[in-house]
Amino acid sequence: MRAEYREEPCKSALNRVRGMMFNWSLNPYMGCVHQCTFCYVRAFERRADRPSDDRYGTSIRVKINVAEVLRRELARPSWAHEQVVVGAATDPYQPAEGRYRLTRSCIEALADAHNPFGIITRGPLILRDLDVLQEASRRASVGVTFSVPTLDERIWRTTEPGTAPPRQRLRVLKRLVDGGINASVGMAPILPGISDKPESLREVVRAAREAGATGVWANVLNLRPGTREHFLAHLAEDWPEEAERYELLYARRAYLGKDVTGPVQAAVSELRREYDISDRRRKKLAPPPEPEQLSLAV
Ligand code: SF4
Repeated sequence: MRAEYREEPCKSALNRVRGMMFNWSLNPYMGCVHQCTFCYVRAFERRADRPSDDRYGTSIRVKINVAEVLRRELARPSWAHEQVVVGAATDPYQPAEGRYRLTRSCIEALADAHNPFGIITRGPLILRDLDVLQEASRRASVGVTFSVPTLDERIWRTTEPGTAPPRQRLRVLKRLVDGGINASVGMAPILPGISDKPESLREVVRAAREAGATGVWANVLNLRPGTREHFLAHLAEDWPEEAERYELLYARRAYLGKDVTGPVQAAVSELRREYDISDRRRKKLAPPPEPEQLSLAV
């Protein structure tokens, strides 16, 4: 399906975030042509009264002035140089970035301001920006997370109709790590009964280790209104044998309890230990240490 691109300037670039592990996010685009069936952004779209069904990802807002606005915001005396997460509500390396280069310009702005940031993506296009990521990493803390929930061909094709193959993402991750970038794998979302089998989890962690990932973490699927209807409708077509179980599993709740998530987290932790996942970059790009305050001997 061809997407429509709406070039619309933005008034602000940095968004204050609540209830997450970070306080600020930055999304150069709104909407995502990858159209993953499990995409949690569908829930935000529903809350904002925008389509969260098959129409999600067919109309992409392009914030054409986002980098200039960001530069102004980063220069404010009140800005405390907190960490910014790029791509929390869209993939910043979806195909449009090839043409618009907004994510690249934003990274340049963050690097110029010596501001720490993280990027979440499924897009191999990030490799194009290795040079700016390297420069940014020399000035502030930078982390890239590649989302790779599964290496299973059928699960990937069925749930992520627009993304690049997971193994291609890992090849790119290796190039980033070899280039000195701190890049990890986020196994998210894990689908109960579908992608949580021990051999599936092992396959991803092993491949992440081979690619040199500096870390691996996992999250189990959550289904908030907007994502829920869309995902369950697709599940009923693609895995009809799982449909009833999911209805029961997610009855009256969006987030699963520890009884389901705990074993998955424990299995991934164990695999992380077994494969000794750690930051083993040969070349570690990092900002110079803060100068130490010398105390005067009196
Ligand atoms: S790549 Fe990320 S933002 Fe894009 S549709 Fe998939 S989950 Fe949503």
